Amino acid sequence: MDAWKSAEGWRQHSGGAAVRRSGKGLDPAAITSKGWARSLWSFSGGDGIVEYAINDRGRGRGNLPMSRTEQDFIHRTFELLDRLTGLAFKPVSSPSGADIRVYCAGKLGGSEGVACKRKNSFDVYWKDKRGWDLTAFEKYVIRHEIGHALGLDHPYGSGGNRRYDTKDTVMSYNWVGNTTFTPTYIQALQGLWGA
Ligand SMILES: [Zn+2]
Repeated sequence: MDAWKSAEGWRQHSGGAAVRRSGKGLDPAAITSKGWARSLWSFSGGDGIVEYAINDRGRGRGNLPMSRTEQDFIHRTFELLDRLTGLAFKPVSSPSGADIRVYCAGKLGGSEGVACKRKNSFDVYWKDKRGWDLTAFEKYVIRHEIGHALGLDHPYGSGGNRRYDTKDTVMSYNWVGNTTFTPTYIQALQGLWGA
Protein backbone atom coordinates (compact mmCIF):
# COMPACT_ATOMS: atom_id res chain seq x y z
CA MET A 1 0.00 0.00 0.00
CA ASP A 2 1.09 3.52 -0.69
CA ALA A 3 1.15 5.60 2.43
CA TRP A 4 1.88 8.52 0.22
CA LYS A 5 2.06 8.88 -3.49
CA SER A 6 2.91 11.77 -5.72
CA ALA A 7 1.43 11.19 -9.16
CA GLU A 8 2.75 14.12 -11.04
CA GLY A 9 0.64 16.39 -13.20
CA TRP A 10 3.06 17.52 -15.87
CA ARG A 11 0.56 17.08 -18.63
CA GLN A 12 -1.07 20.36 -17.73
CA HIS A 13 2.25 22.15 -17.89
CA SER A 14 3.86 20.86 -21.03
CA GLY A 15 5.26 23.37 -23.43
CA GLY A 16 6.67 25.62 -20.74
CA ALA A 17 4.61 28.02 -18.70
CA ALA A 18 5.02 31.77 -18.67
CA VAL A 19 6.42 32.25 -15.22
CA ARG A 20 5.84 35.52 -13.40
CA ARG A 21 8.93 36.08 -11.36
CA SER A 22 8.62 37.82 -8.04
CA GLY A 23 12.22 39.01 -8.26
CA LYS A 24 13.03 37.18 -5.07
CA GLY A 25 14.56 33.74 -5.12
CA LEU A 26 12.57 30.75 -3.97
CA ASP A 27 12.90 30.15 -0.23
CA PRO A 28 14.43 26.67 0.32
CA ALA A 29 11.88 26.15 3.13
CA ALA A 30 9.14 26.33 0.47
CA ILE A 31 10.33 23.03 -1.05
CA THR A 32 11.16 21.26 2.20
CA SER A 33 9.05 18.44 3.60
CA LYS A 34 10.25 17.30 6.99
CA GLY A 35 7.78 14.39 7.06
CA TRP A 36 9.21 12.75 3.94
CA ALA A 37 12.74 13.38 5.19
CA ARG A 38 11.89 11.68 8.48
CA SER A 39 10.73 8.64 6.52
CA LEU A 40 14.01 8.43 4.63
CA TRP A 41 15.94 8.79 7.87
CA SER A 42 13.99 5.93 9.35
CA PHE A 43 14.39 3.78 6.18
CA SER A 44 18.16 4.34 6.39
CA GLY A 45 18.13 2.90 9.89
CA GLY A 46 18.99 6.27 11.40
CA ASP A 47 22.60 6.22 10.19
CA GLY A 48 22.32 8.56 7.20
CA ILE A 49 23.64 5.81 4.91
CA VAL A 50 21.07 5.51 2.17
CA GLU A 51 21.19 2.36 0.10
CA TYR A 52 19.72 2.64 -3.36
CA ALA A 53 18.94 0.01 -5.97
CA ILE A 54 18.48 0.55 -9.70
CA ASN A 55 16.03 -1.80 -11.40
CA ASP A 56 18.38 -2.09 -14.37
CA ARG A 57 16.96 -5.37 -15.67
CA GLY A 58 13.41 -4.03 -15.76
CA ARG A 59 12.01 -6.57 -13.33
CA GLY A 60 8.33 -6.25 -12.51
CA ARG A 61 5.28 -5.63 -14.64
CA GLY A 62 5.42 -2.51 -16.79
CA ASN A 63 9.06 -1.77 -16.05
CA LEU A 64 11.79 -1.47 -18.67
CA PRO A 65 15.46 -2.41 -18.53
CA MET A 66 17.91 0.48 -18.42
CA SER A 67 20.84 1.30 -20.65
CA ARG A 68 24.31 2.01 -19.32
CA THR A 69 23.68 5.71 -20.08
CA GLU A 70 20.56 5.71 -17.93
CA GLN A 71 22.21 3.86 -15.07
CA ASP A 72 25.26 6.12 -15.19
CA PHE A 73 23.09 9.23 -14.94
CA ILE A 74 21.33 7.87 -11.85
CA HIS A 75 24.61 6.87 -10.19
CA ARG A 76 26.06 10.30 -11.00
CA THR A 77 23.03 11.99 -9.46
CA PHE A 78 23.46 10.06 -6.20
CA GLU A 79 27.22 10.77 -6.22
CA LEU A 80 26.49 14.48 -6.51
CA LEU A 81 23.93 14.32 -3.70
CA ASP A 82 26.46 12.42 -1.60
CA ARG A 83 28.94 15.28 -2.04
CA LEU A 84 26.37 18.03 -1.49
CA THR A 85 24.70 16.67 1.64
CA GLY A 86 25.58 14.94 4.87
CA LEU A 87 23.98 11.76 3.56
CA ALA A 88 26.00 8.87 2.15
CA PHE A 89 24.57 6.95 -0.80
CA LYS A 90 25.50 3.37 -1.42
CA PRO A 91 24.45 1.41 -4.50
CA VAL A 92 23.19 -2.10 -3.78
CA SER A 93 22.22 -4.77 -6.29
CA SER A 94 19.27 -6.25 -4.42
CA PRO A 95 16.08 -4.17 -4.24
CA SER A 96 15.04 -5.82 -0.99
CA GLY A 97 16.52 -3.79 1.80
CA ALA A 98 17.22 -0.74 -0.41
CA ASP A 99 15.97 2.58 0.99
CA ILE A 100 15.39 4.09 -2.47
CA ARG A 101 14.55 2.05 -5.55
CA VAL A 102 14.65 3.55 -9.03
CA TYR A 103 12.49 2.20 -11.87
CA CYS A 104 12.11 3.00 -15.56
CA ALA A 105 8.47 2.59 -16.56
CA GLY A 106 6.92 2.11 -19.99
CA LYS A 107 3.67 3.71 -18.87
CA LEU A 108 2.68 5.65 -15.78
CA GLY A 109 -1.02 6.28 -16.30
CA GLY A 110 -0.43 9.57 -18.07
CA SER A 111 2.13 10.84 -15.61
CA GLU A 112 5.81 11.46 -16.33
CA GLY A 113 7.11 10.38 -12.94
CA VAL A 114 5.96 9.05 -9.60
CA ALA A 115 7.48 8.82 -6.14
CA CYS A 116 5.82 6.32 -3.79
CA LYS A 117 6.40 5.88 -0.10
CA ARG A 118 6.29 2.18 0.67
CA LYS A 119 6.62 0.47 4.01
CA ASN A 120 10.42 0.46 4.05
CA SER A 121 11.49 2.43 0.99
CA PHE A 122 10.80 5.15 -1.52
CA ASP A 123 10.11 3.86 -5.00
CA VAL A 124 10.90 6.32 -7.74
CA TYR A 125 9.65 5.89 -11.33
CA TRP A 126 10.20 7.82 -14.50
CA LYS A 127 8.55 7.25 -17.84
CA ASP A 128 10.82 6.24 -20.69
CA LYS A 129 10.82 8.63 -23.63
CA ARG A 130 13.55 7.50 -25.97
CA GLY A 131 14.64 3.92 -25.40
CA TRP A 132 18.27 3.62 -24.41
CA ASP A 133 18.81 7.35 -24.68
CA LEU A 134 18.01 9.75 -21.89
CA THR A 135 16.39 13.03 -22.88
CA ALA A 136 16.93 16.21 -20.87
CA PHE A 137 13.30 15.98 -19.77
CA GLU A 138 13.84 12.45 -18.42
CA LYS A 139 16.89 13.67 -16.49
CA TYR A 140 14.80 16.43 -14.98
CA VAL A 141 12.03 14.00 -13.99
CA ILE A 142 14.56 11.62 -12.37
CA ARG A 143 16.03 14.45 -10.29
CA HIS A 144 12.56 15.71 -9.36
CA GLU A 145 11.43 12.29 -8.10
CA ILE A 146 14.69 11.58 -6.25
CA GLY A 147 14.21 15.01 -4.66
CA HIS A 148 10.87 13.80 -3.25
CA ALA A 149 12.58 10.72 -1.79
CA LEU A 150 15.07 13.00 -0.05
CA GLY A 151 12.35 15.16 1.50
CA LEU A 152 11.66 17.83 -1.10
CA ASP A 153 8.23 19.09 -2.12
CA HIS A 154 6.83 21.26 -4.90
CA PRO A 155 7.18 25.04 -4.43
CA TYR A 156 4.71 25.88 -1.64
CA GLY A 157 3.09 22.50 -2.22
CA SER A 158 2.15 23.21 -5.83
CA GLY A 159 4.17 21.88 -8.77
CA GLY A 160 2.39 24.18 -11.18
CA ASN A 161 2.94 27.34 -9.09
CA ARG A 162 3.44 29.86 -11.86
CA ARG A 163 5.80 32.06 -9.87
CA TYR A 164 8.53 29.46 -10.19
CA ASP A 165 10.11 27.25 -12.80
CA THR A 166 13.00 24.83 -13.04
CA LYS A 167 15.46 27.72 -13.00
CA ASP A 168 14.44 27.99 -9.33
CA THR A 169 14.32 24.26 -8.68
CA VAL A 170 13.68 20.98 -10.49
CA MET A 171 10.86 20.52 -7.94
CA SER A 172 8.75 22.81 -10.16
CA TYR A 173 6.58 21.39 -12.97
CA ASN A 174 7.37 24.40 -15.12
CA TRP A 175 10.21 22.87 -17.07
CA VAL A 176 12.30 25.36 -19.01
CA GLY A 177 14.96 22.96 -20.21
CA ASN A 178 17.35 22.66 -17.29
CA THR A 179 18.16 19.64 -15.18
CA THR A 180 20.78 21.09 -12.83
CA PHE A 181 20.71 21.34 -9.06
CA THR A 182 19.95 24.98 -8.29
CA PRO A 183 21.07 26.79 -5.12
CA THR A 184 17.50 26.48 -3.77
CA TYR A 185 17.48 22.71 -4.29
CA ILE A 186 20.92 22.33 -2.69
CA GLN A 187 20.12 24.62 0.25
CA ALA A 188 16.85 22.80 0.94
CA LEU A 189 18.70 19.46 1.03
CA GLN A 190 21.46 20.88 3.20
CA GLY A 191 18.82 22.32 5.55
CA LEU A 192 17.44 18.79 5.96
CA TRP A 193 20.65 16.77 5.87
CA GLY A 194 23.55 19.09 6.61
CA ALA A 195 26.39 19.83 4.23
ZN1 LIG B 1 6.61 16.04 -7.71
